[in-house]
Formats: sequence, C-alpha cells, structure tokens
Amino acid sequence: MTAIPFDNSYARLPEQFHERIQPAPVRAPELIRFNRPLAARLGLDLPDDGPALARLFSGNEPIEGAQPLAQAYAGHQFGYFVPQLGDGRAALLGEVVAPDGKRFDIQLKGSGRTRFSRGGDGRSPLGAVIREYVVSEAMHGLGVPSSRALAMVATGETVRRERDLPGGVLTRVASSHIRVGTFEYFAARGDAASQRLLADHVIDRHYPGCRAASDPYAELFRRVILAVADLTARWMGVGFIHGVMNTDNTSVARETLDFGPCAFLDGYDPSAVFSSIDGQGRYAFDNQPAVAQWNLSSLGGCLAPLLAGGPDGDSNDTGEAGREAAEAILAEFPDAFARRFQAVMARKIGIEDGDAADFAVVRELLRLMRGSGADFTVAFRELARWREGGVPFAALVGDGPAASGWIETWRARLAARNVSPERAAATMLAANPARIPRNHQVERAIRAAEDAGDFAPANRLAEALADPYVDRPEFIEYEAPPEPHEMVRQTFCGT
Ligand code: AMP
Ligand code: MG
Repeated sequence: MTAIPFDNSYARLPEQFHERIQPAPVRAPELIRFNRPLAARLGLDLPDDGPALARLFSGNEPIEGAQPLAQAYAGHQFGYFVPQLGDGRAALLGEVVAPDGKRFDIQLKGSGRTRFSRGGDGRSPLGAVIREYVVSEAMHGLGVPSSRALAMVATGETVRRERDLPGGVLTRVASSHIRVGTFEYFAARGDAASQRLLADHVIDRHYPGCRAASDPYAELFRRVILAVADLTARWMGVGFIHGVMNTDNTSVARETLDFGPCAFLDGYDPSAVFSSIDGQGRYAFDNQPAVAQWNLSSLGGCLAPLLAGGPDGDSNDTGEAGREAAEAILAEFPDAFARRFQAVMARKIGIEDGDAADFAVVRELLRLMRGSGADFTVAFRELARWREGGVPFAALVGDGPAASGWIETWRARLAARNVSPERAAATMLAANPARIPRNHQVERAIRAAEDAGDFAPANRLAEALADPYVDRPEFIEYEAPPEPHEMVRQTFCGT
C-alpha cells in the first residue's frame, strides 16, 4: 500500500466539522496528467507509474495515512444564504507538511457522494476537471495565489448532465479548504464553541501572527481582509473573472478557489460577465472588489461575537460592541483594495510600489484600450516591449494623438519616478504575461478531451502556461487573442 505521511489536523476537529467518508471507486481510471513539480514541492514519494497513480488519485486504491472526510460548510450563493452546502463531491484525503514546513490539503474532487451531496451524483465531468487543472496551475504560474492541481484522472464512467459526459477526478491541493462559508455554517447554527475552535484552527494554520495581537480574532479578520483585497487585485491584474464568488468559494487562506465558470478578459471590458447563470452581472469583472467586501462583511458577522466586546455571558450584553468592531475593521477594505490594485496595475506600466498618481496614468491607458477594443493581455505585453521598436502598441490602443499623448504622459511619469526605461521594461515583462489560459484555448482542450478522448491539447496548454512571463516561441499560438468566431462569450459551471 502506498503511504503518504499525512498529519490530519482537520480530522482531529470534532465531528460537527466533517463527515468521514470513503471515495467511491470508479470503473476504469486513466491518468491524464500528474504534476511532478508539485509532488516534489509537497515532498511526496510516489510511484512513477501511470496506472498506479491513476488508482491512487481516483480513490480506487486507499492511501495509507489518509483519513478521508467531507467538510461541512454553508454559503451565500448569489446573495442567498444556504445553511448547509459542504463537500458534496469531494474527499479531503488528509494534510501533508511540505519540506519547507508549509501545510497542504490533498483532496479528491469528483470522488462520489457524501452526506452533503443533496441531489448531486458526487461526480465531475471531465471538462470541469480539465478546466480546474489548467486554470489553477496557470494562476500559480502567473503568480496569483491559488489552489493547485496534483493529478487529473479520467474515470471511464459517464456522468449525466444536459447530455452524457465522460467523468473525471481532480486532485486538488490547497493551503486549506476553509471558506467564509465554513464560518457561516457554525454561525447559522448558533454554535459559538465550534466557531471559536474554527477561528483558532485558522489562526494556528494560516495567521499565527495573530496570537501576538491584543485581540487575536480582530487581527484574524483584518488579515483575511488584507489577503482577500490582495488576491482580488491580483486577479484583476491578469484579467481574471472568478465568475462565482459565493462565500462558499471564498477561501480564508488567500487562495483562488473554485474554477467553475471562470474566464479571462480578451478585449478590455470592465463590465465583462461570462457565467451563464450570472444574469445580473453580480460577479462582473469590475464588481469583484465590491463582492469581495460583501463576502467579508458576512465573515465579520460570524466573527463579531468573538471580538473584544462580544457577548461574554453577561445577559445584558447584546454583542453590539463586537459588531461595531467588525464593521470598523471591514471599513478598511476599500482602501486596502485600492492600494493593492494601484500597486498591481502600476507594475503593468513599469512602476513598482505605485500610488494613486501612477494609477491615474493606468486608468487613462485602460480607457484607450477600451475604446480601441485592444486585447488586455497583448496590449500590456506589447507595452513591455515598446522600446524594442516595431511593436504595434500604438496600433493596439489607437494610433491617434490620444495614444501618442498617453505615451508622453507615461514617459514623463517614469522620469518623475526616476524609473529608467530599462527598469520599467524589466518590471513590465515580469508583470504582463505573454500567455494566459485563454477561454477559447481552454474550451478547445475540453472539447478534444470530452468529444474525442484526446488529452494532448489539455496537456500542451498546461505546459504552455507553466512559465507565462517567459517568451516561448514554441507556444506562440497561445498568445493570440481569439478570432471572432473562436470567441467564448459564455461559460458554464460544469458541475
Ligand atoms: P460549486 O458550484 O462547485 O461551488 O458547488 C456548490 C455546492 O454544490 C457544493 O456544496 C458542492 O459540493 C455541491 N456540488 C456541486 N456539484 C455536485 C455534484 N455533482 N454532486 C454533489 N454535490 C455537488
Ligand atoms: Mg464551490
């Protein structure tokens, strides 16, 4: 039996946190891709054998040391509260402590029904598995904190959706799978003791520095707010639209989680919405900071009773002070986001530690890009190469006086900031990727796998995205924006 030196801290939490389960075996597991660099990063010693890995990461063969469980959580979905969601098709196998001391969850997704499955079959279509593998690993390559993908396996089974689809299992790796919705689960039950256990677990695991603060739970809330502000800014810096920023998909561990209907901007359009079920544009590209804050306000409501001034057994205490404390901390979000977003965007025009004045220059560029319909990724990458000459940057944002005027303003700003053109170029090449997981390329890889059993496009796309800031002539086809007929206008949850 293959062993992994698991150390399962979540499994040690009381029974109301999870349900012990066993992954349900699949008919004919076939390994599509295994992430060797990630396995090495985790310090895993696994067989170098496709069929053996397929058995382990489909759930067909148990791993020694695993204590599989489904986590309980709740969540606000599109603003509406669902008191019990939980892992309806995922099994947390356990946690490993990597050689550098960092702790990671290893979870199978698509591994069968649990107590939380409600009407679902506990399975994943292969397309959703490929999307999550490719995009989550691309996010990591882009430098955006994200859950990661260790393996993808085709199950040899059919899952029934609007039509029959081949099934798959993804092995997901994350710092943890604790969400805002995990806190909401216990808040909705009025289970203050579990809420405190959860907060302590999150502090120990993700924010140990909070222990030194006068009010550790207030400090926890503050740090999660800063983390989510930073993450949202980074998403927007690469044109990422999460698509389903429900509280159950909002990690408290500062990682991108859940890649259901996600998409990337092609042409710059701040109001872009891709998800077929987001009719109101709640999760539109430029609404993401507002939604992040909305999600955090729900977390604040959950943590309020724990904050200094929260109810302490005195029956006259309504917890008003705790709520006010939470609100005061939440009020730090807009500034925190603005600062992070300014810095992320200023790097894209070559300025480190950018401020509001730098951001004003970016905003003018975005306005030009919007007007010309420029591709967000290509335009910024071309800007990075601007000094090489002969690149069509001006053509991308319009070659009239507005564009040349912008270039003047930009160069003056670099000079005022004492940034040499060489340094600006280096900053920009490290901030503006050559390749992103373009929607039409992801779609093509999924179609090849689902319709023809051909996994080569998915594997090649994953390879092209491993180092997206490096020019790679052999992957040039992944740099091009879609032709009009290739453009993906809508994405589907694919659950
Ligand atoms: P998601 O849209 O992936 O964030 O999932 C929302 C909720 O539905 C979570 O509780 C999932 O575990 C559950 N869920 C999604 N798909 C399935 C499925 N095929 N079977 C069982 N539960 C599912
Ligand atoms: Mg989810």
